[in-house]
Amino acid sequence: MIKSENLSAVKEVTIRDIWEAKKRITPLVHKTKLLHSNLLSQKHQSQVFLKLENLHDTGSFKIRGAANKILSLTEAEKQNGVTTFSTGNHGMAVAYVAKQLGIKATVCISNRVPEVKVQKLKELGAEVVIVGENQDDAEAHCYELEKDRGMTVIKPFDDPYIISGQGTIGLELFEDLPNVDTVIVPLSGGGLLSGVGFTLKTINPSIEVIGVSMERSPVMYESLKANRPVVLKEQPTLADSLLGGIGLNNQYTFNMVKKYMDDVVLLTEEEIAEGMFYMLKNHRMGIEGASATGIAALLSNKVVRKDKNIAIIISGCNVDMSLLLQIGLNHLEK
Ligand SMILES: *Cc1c(COP(=O)(O)O)cnc(C)c1O
Repeated sequence: MIKSENLSAVKEVTIRDIWEAKKRITPLVHKTKLLHSNLLSQKHQSQVFLKLENLHDTGSFKIRGAANKILSLTEAEKQNGVTTFSTGNHGMAVAYVAKQLGIKATVCISNRVPEVKVQKLKELGAEVVIVGENQDDAEAHCYELEKDRGMTVIKPFDDPYIISGQGTIGLELFEDLPNVDTVIVPLSGGGLLSGVGFTLKTINPSIEVIGVSMERSPVMYESLKANRPVVLKEQPTLADSLLGGIGLNNQYTFNMVKKYMDDVVLLTEEEIAEGMFYMLKNHRMGIEGASATGIAALLSNKVVRKDKNIAIIISGCNVDMSLLLQIGLNHLEK
């Protein structure tokens, strides 16, 4: 039997894959709104739009890649179920999509993962297996499940189906804003930026793609500087969904980010908090730190573009309520 793993190792993402992904995920994933932001537009003398990926079921864009990957499995693979070692937005998306399709999902986590996250995953219908002390143990267990039980590991970013799923955001952007000039994309493992960057630049190479990350442990940024995947010690950050390595064996996203990203900007914790507060105050929406990095880049003037159509990807909303309210109150007092 040829495993999808072996096939995917030779597969290059094409624009046809993105269109196929759009068709495939349509029953599970709705199109998101592109919201005009008045204040940011005035400040930059540009037209600034927010692509509201925080409004999906499970609260992030990760549902796109997870749906595209799981829906493209063979019947036999679906029968055997899927597994992942992510406890964050990707893990939730995998659990949600699998449940919708009646497929068994097993999320492997370490004993360090907080109970609230475990509860959330169980609510979404996943089986949660607690193994070992850290993320590496959990990951190793996933691959054992693949070997022993034929389950498919759903990787968080370094997979052409995941990248293509995230790329559907690019198609939606063209539908609503055909003359987009600049797109600002939160960057971690690079599945989002690879998909969106590839799609936009394939259709119009002059579109500018800017990656945004936090100053604290930006692994893709440091990897691009070193011209190979590097490992960094993780520091606590408001943009926790952007933490994590890119894989020392990275097959796709490292090269795609290198090819499709024009510029990258790093944000401080205070700047990220300002971005979160901006959304809360002006749009009455609570978003997580990772997805506030794009707004932060404009608010801090680390990205300045005049007379342009700028789209910012607002990637997710999974943030602890008390943290969000605390940021809101702190900024109101200023
Ligand atoms: C995963 C995630 C990102 C980064 O996506 P990558 O494909 O890993 O670069 C950004 N924002 C949120 C909210 C996420 O969950």
